Amino acid sequence: MLNVPSQSFPGPSSQQRVASGGRSKVPLKQGRSLMDWIRLTKSGKDLTGLKGRLIEVTEEELKKHNKKDDCWICIRGFVYNVSPYMEYHPGGEDELMRAAGSDGTDLFDQVHRWVNYESMLKECLVGRMAMKPALPKDYHEEKKVLNGMLPQSQVTDTLAKEGPSSPSYDWFQTDSLVTIVIYTKQKDINLDSVIVDHRDDSFRAETVIKDYSYLVHVALSHEIQEDFSGLFYRKCQLVSKEDMTHDTKLFCLMLPPSTHLQVPVGQHVYLKLPITGTEIVKPYTPVSDSLFSEFKEPVLPNNIYIYFLIKIYPAGFFTPELDQLQIGDYVSVSNPEGNFIISQLQELEDLFLLAAGTGFTPMVKVLNYALTNIPSLRKVKLMFFNKTEDDIIWRSQLEKLAFKDKRFEVEFVLSAPTSEWSGKQGYISPALLSEFLRRSSDTSKVLICLCGPTPFTEQGMKMLHDLNFSKDEIHSFTA
Ligand code: FAD
Ligand code: NAP
Repeated sequence: MLNVPSQSFPGPSSQQRVASGGRSKVPLKQGRSLMDWIRLTKSGKDLTGLKGRLIEVTEEELKKHNKKDDCWICIRGFVYNVSPYMEYHPGGEDELMRAAGSDGTDLFDQVHRWVNYESMLKECLVGRMAMKPALPKDYHEEKKVLNGMLPQSQVTDTLAKEGPSSPSYDWFQTDSLVTIVIYTKQKDINLDSVIVDHRDDSFRAETVIKDYSYLVHVALSHEIQEDFSGLFYRKCQLVSKEDMTHDTKLFCLMLPPSTHLQVPVGQHVYLKLPITGTEIVKPYTPVSDSLFSEFKEPVLPNNIYIYFLIKIYPAGFFTPELDQLQIGDYVSVSNPEGNFIISQLQELEDLFLLAAGTGFTPMVKVLNYALTNIPSLRKVKLMFFNKTEDDIIWRSQLEKLAFKDKRFEVEFVLSAPTSEWSGKQGYISPALLSEFLRRSSDTSKVLICLCGPTPFTEQGMKMLHDLNFSKDEIHSFTA
């Protein structure tokens, strides 16, 4: 069963509370959690005000719906009435209003491309944008902003007209986007049933419905950059789940046989699970199976396992569901994302890692990779912030590694230690950092990586700037 918290969200000590600056989550009113939103969408209430009717929306019409109590937003050609969602939006009403009455696709992609809005907002769907008349070819050839065009004369419709349903398709475009919509008339169709390929100016989408396969193959008059509505997911099987601390587990997932996926050092993926009928997505950073696993890039093609260290929050939304999975169950895993560039490690001499709680996860591969592949490396120091000794992930492995490899040192800092703790205590501070961040020489090439609760990372960044480390010497892991 889901544990549905009833207090105001996020809780006073919740990781969801974000300090000022950056893209903040705002405290939501009581009864406005994600679970409350899902309940509302399942209540049968008319959330669009159109009594279930879908309409074609012109740009002029879209522009009119630009107020909080009447707010329409277009994402990838689909228009949603987001007014009922306002109070449930974790980023706050003002953030949502930035796209009111307009095409919010770019804004949405900048902020949270990974959020599964089709599922979250399906009851708010007003309809789709009305097709713009195709522009004459010589016009769009001059305008470099166009990614592609689909002059109707070049569209070949090869959809079968028989079978369990008769899918149809159409397309529309904005100045920078061409969207092809295939109406399958099937409930809950998922990405596994759709194969999409594009090469140069040819676009091909095969949709498998029951025993039939439907093909849309179109010739574009221009090359397009691909954007198949967000991330691609594949279903992976849970192979093992082991306790690493009282609340953190090592999950091992097996990739499908036809998939080769290697998550680059410093990048994360999104895990997706259906929770009470809505697909929920959260980011997680794959780790190696241990600190001693041999680290070679690229990994062998037969590497079919992907590991995650995940903390289970009893009152959390996603992790209790993940924890409920049985061995053999499936979870969807996205393609990797992230802005860590591995070349930042080249010729590095000093690597400093500042991690808090599960903020340790991106450090695992960075640490392994640097110790194995960077010959110039003189030292790697990890400062690991936790509440208590029991919360320290892989403590004995870290201590063994420090014993085995003299370049590596680890220091644990606890915010709520027992009286027996003789190590460092407290929170990230300028005093702790200036003592810890000693270069091996005045001119050594340094990188400092930070990861943890958002306020920890933000405060740490500020302290590092105050200590005169340059932007190029700092990498913070964020969403
Ligand atoms: P949430 O529902 O988000 O709850 C989080 C906290 O808020 C919990 O303490 C919960 O008790 C509290 N809370 C929830 N609802 C309420 C309420 N109504 N009242 C009071 N308190 C409440 N995590 C990992 O464990 N491993 C990783 O490798 C990892 N990698 C990440 C990579 C990135 C790029 C990012 C951004 C995050 C990563 N995370 C990782 C964090 C992860 O994405 C989730 O945020 C985390 O698992 C919590 O999800 P949840 O839905 O279970 O909890
Ligand atoms: P936690 O146990 O709550 O906190 C770890 C340590 O950080 C504790 O000592 C805690 O102290 C301290 N801390 C918390 N807030 C702080 C703040 N504002 N300033 C200074 N210290 C602070 O951590 P967790 O539950 O494991 O959460 C880990 C976080 O890392 C999550 O928010 C997760 O999203 C994030 N994460 C991000 C990535 C990424 O790539 N972006 C990857 C993995 C994890 P007290 O609790 O005693 O206050």
